[in-house]
Amino acid sequence: MARIVVAGAGAIGASIAYHLVLAGAGEVVLCDRAQVGSGSTGKAMGGVRQQFSTAPEVRLAQASIRFFEDLGSPFFEQVGYVFLASSAEGLAELEERRAFQEGLGVPVTRVDPGAIEGLEVGDVVGAVACWEDGVADAARVTRELVRRATERGVELAEGVNAVGLEFDVLVVACGPWSADLGRTLGVELPIRPLCRQLVDTVPVGGLALDLPMIVEAETGFHFRPVDGALRLAMAEPTLRWGFEERVDDELVSDWLRRLARRYPLAAGAEVARAWAGLYDMTPDAHPIIGWAREGVYAACGFSGHGFMQSPAVGRAAAQEILDGASEFDLTPYRLERFVEGAVFPEKLVL
Ligand SMILES: Cc1cc2nc3c(=O)[nH]c(=O)nc-3n(C[C@H](O)[C@H](O)[C@H](O)COP(=O)(O)OP(=O)(O)OC[C@H]3O[C@@H](n4cnc5c(N)ncnc54)[C@H](O)[C@@H]3O)c2cc1C
Repeated sequence: MARIVVAGAGAIGASIAYHLVLAGAGEVVLCDRAQVGSGSTGKAMGGVRQQFSTAPEVRLAQASIRFFEDLGSPFFEQVGYVFLASSAEGLAELEERRAFQEGLGVPVTRVDPGAIEGLEVGDVVGAVACWEDGVADAARVTRELVRRATERGVELAEGVNAVGLEFDVLVVACGPWSADLGRTLGVELPIRPLCRQLVDTVPVGGLALDLPMIVEAETGFHFRPVDGALRLAMAEPTLRWGFEERVDDELVSDWLRRLARRYPLAAGAEVARAWAGLYDMTPDAHPIIGWAREGVYAACGFSGHGFMQSPAVGRAAAQEILDGASEFDLTPYRLERFVEGAVFPEKLVL
C-alpha cells in the first residue's frame, strides 16, 4: 500500500488528506512543521466567492460551493458578495463579468445597492451580487476537515517537517513555503510570497446580521461581517513581496476612513486586531495542481483565493493521485504552462 505524505496542514493539505481517505487511500500522513491552519489559512479573510474573471478560477470555486453549503453555519454563512461600481467604466466591467459568469452557470445578478441596510451609495452607479457566495472561518473549517480525516484513519503529524520523510507520494501543499520544499525535491515551483493584511474592528452596534461581503470594484476595498464586527481588506497600492508579515498602520487608518464613508454606522469604530499573512502568488494568479515529477504532486500557488477552492481541489487531487485521472479538468493548472511564459490573466485578486 502506497504511503502518501501530505506536506502542509492548511486548507489545501487538509482537504486533500480528507478526500484521499474518503476515496479509500491506505496510508495517509498529514504533516505540518507547525500546526493545523497556522499558515495562510489562519490569516484569511474567509471570503467564498464564485465571481472571478477567468473560467478556471470560476470553475474551482463553483465546484466547491456545495461543500460549503453542506457544512453550513457556523462554518459558512451564505451572506452573498456584492460588487459596487462608482463609475461608468467600472459598471461596464461588472456587467461584462456578470454576463461571463452567468454563462458559466454562476447566478450573478444586478442588485439595488440602496436596499442594503446601512450602506452609503450616493456615488454608486450600479452593483452586482451572487447570493450563493459567503464567508467562513477558514481555520475552523480546516480543523473540522482534519478532525474528519483523522477519524477515518489519516495520521496527523504536527511539528514535523516534510523534508527527509519517506514517501511513495509527497503532496506539496505548503502555501507560500511550497517553493522551498520543492527545491529540496529538485522541483522549481514559481511561487512568490506577497504580504497582505487584514483588520477587525470592535463590534459595531446595529450591524445587520445579513450584511453581505461588500467590495468596491474600483478601489478593491472590501469588508465583511464577523461576529458583530467588520473585517476589512484592500489590495495594496505598493506590492510587498517577501516573507515579512507586517501590519502597515497607515493602511489601517486609510481603511477606517474608507469604511466610515461607505458604512457610516461603523464611523469611529476602533481596531480590535490587525494582522498580516502571505499570499502564495504564481505569475498568472492561478494555482499549480498536478504531478511536478514522479512521486511529487503539487497543490500550491493559490494566489490569495485558495481557501474557497479547497473542497474542489482536495477532491480532484485525491482522484488524480489514486486513480490517475479526475472528473474535474485540471489541465489549466499544470506546472508546465509556465514554460511558455504565462502572463497574469486572473484579474480579480482581491
Ligand atoms: C490576508 C489574507 C487573506 C486571505 N483571504 C482569503 C479569502 O478571503 N478567501 C480565500 O479563499 N483565500 C484567502 N486567502 C488565501 C488563503 O488563505 C490560502 O490560499 C489558503 O488558506 C490555502 O492554504 P494552503 O493550505 O495552500 O497554505 P497554508 O495555509 O499556508 O498552509 C501551508 C502549511 O504548510 C506548512 N509547511 C510549510 N513548510 C512545510 C514543510 N517543509 N513541511 C511541513 N509543513 C510545512 C506551514 O506550516 C503551513 O501550515 C487569504 C490569505 C491571506 C494571507
